[in-house]
Amino acid sequence: MAETGIGPASRPLVEAVGLTRVYGEGETATVAVDGATFAIAEGEFLALIGQSGSGKSTLLNMLGLLDTPTAGSLRYQGDGVSGLPKAERAQLRNQLIGFVFQFHHLLPEFTVLENVLMPALVAGARPAEVRDRAIETLELLGIVGLEDKNANQLSGGQKQRVAIARALLNRPAIVLADEPTGNLDTTNTEAVYDLFRTINRELGTAFLIVTHDRSVAQRTDRIIEIRDGKIIGDVRNEYLTGGS
Ligand code: ADP
Repeated sequence: MAETGIGPASRPLVEAVGLTRVYGEGETATVAVDGATFAIAEGEFLALIGQSGSGKSTLLNMLGLLDTPTAGSLRYQGDGVSGLPKAERAQLRNQLIGFVFQFHHLLPEFTVLENVLMPALVAGARPAEVRDRAIETLELLGIVGLEDKNANQLSGGQKQRVAIARALLNRPAIVLADEPTGNLDTTNTEAVYDLFRTINRELGTAFLIVTHDRSVAQRTDRIIEIRDGKIIGDVRNEYLTGGS
């Protein structure tokens, strides 16, 4: 492993400077994220690690434009996002960011295709416009043919693939994955990791993967470590290049 520098592109995908989030006030205040400064380049594939309570979710929520920092600045593709009105932030989030969680949050009574299309339809897309892209995405993830099944008929691994397809529908610049393999066995963990890699290579999507799983973290290109809200490590992983 070697020290990492700022991403190679002159304009990083993400640029966080002194990003801070304090919950509560006065004596009961908790500094959940404390002055996080880092950049993520377009197409980077990295892990965020840290113990429970270290600030990972809080950081992810800010990067995902789901929460606003108390202090510091956040830029996406050069543009500041912290001060944007709620509706604009939501729009930007919809365009730029895909989310994958530990639990897939699929709607069990709806079909795979409906689940994949749902966020796009809620955001105002016309079904005909996004249907082909949804099928293409299912193909990419190796689950084409399942589109008419109900989500509750799928295996755990298949459900997570559908959740990944849903996250990719709008072709986000980055996927923020919060313990995406935390609920899966070893075989499915490997499969999800491989899929992320494939998507990263084929679509150029950046990935930030929050994980407790050292074997997953060690196979990313870079590991950021957080402790007590502070970034205590940011190293480039030299494993890889040519690996799966
Ligand atoms: P992690 O994801 O690494 O487990 P979190 O970001 O959830 O860590 O939490 C970081 C710190 O912030 C913890 O001390 C946690 O108790 C606190 N915290 C998280 N969310 C809230 C909240 N909504 N209100 C108050 N404190 C919170």
